[in-house]
Amino acid sequence: MEFKRCVRCGCFFMSNNDVCCNCESKDRFDIAKLNNILEEDLNFNSIQDLSIASGVNLNNLNRFIANNKIYGIDNISL
Ligand SMILES: [Zn+2]
Repeated sequence: MEFKRCVRCGCFFMSNNDVCCNCESKDRFDIAKLNNILEEDLNFNSIQDLSIASGVNLNNLNRFIANNKIYGIDNISL
């Protein structure tokens, strides 16, 4: 366990995750939303388009991609 700063809200917490327990559920919600969007429509030209369409900010989006949380992202040219 490490003492970390949450990448979403900036609070300090003890965990091996990147986000605090409050933000964990927000992450899950964002990831589910992104995966739903990608299942339906793969006509995104960039990560930025996906960010706008989903309302998930680019920082979080890039973090999810880096952690392999988003399926179907291979169809988007990065
Ligand atoms: Zn947080």
